[in-house]
Formats: sequence, structure tokens, C-alpha cells
Amino acid sequence: MAARKTAARRPAKPAEPVQPPPCTVCEGTGLVAVTVRVGRRHRPVGQQEGMCLSCLGTGEA
Ligand SMILES: [Zn+2]
Repeated sequence: MAARKTAARRPAKPAEPVQPPPCTVCEGTGLVAVTVRVGRRHRPVGQQEGMCLSCLGTGEA
């Protein structure tokens, strides 16, 4: 059998990668500043980077 070209063939669209909206809590970084508290009075001693609990560090909503 001879292979025939199908003229009615539609050009295949390239699959567009689905980009989920960035997380609004960490702004897409996956990290959030967490206030570190110590002592009985929970005195804030500073902040450290913590994993965003909204997106679990992926940065995607
Ligand atoms: Zn996040």
C-alpha cells in the first residue's frame, strides 16, 4: 500500500505547558518568613525562612 498524504490533516498544536498561578502567600517562592519565638514570653528573636504551608514549598497555588 502506498502511503497517501492526508490533505485534511490539521497541524498539530504544540502542547502548551499549563502554568498554575503562583502562590499568593509566598509569592511563588515557596518560602515564607517565620518569626522565631523563644522563652516563656515567646519573645521574637528574629525570622527565618520556612516552607510555605499553602503550597508546600512548590510556589504554586
Ligand atoms: Zn506558597
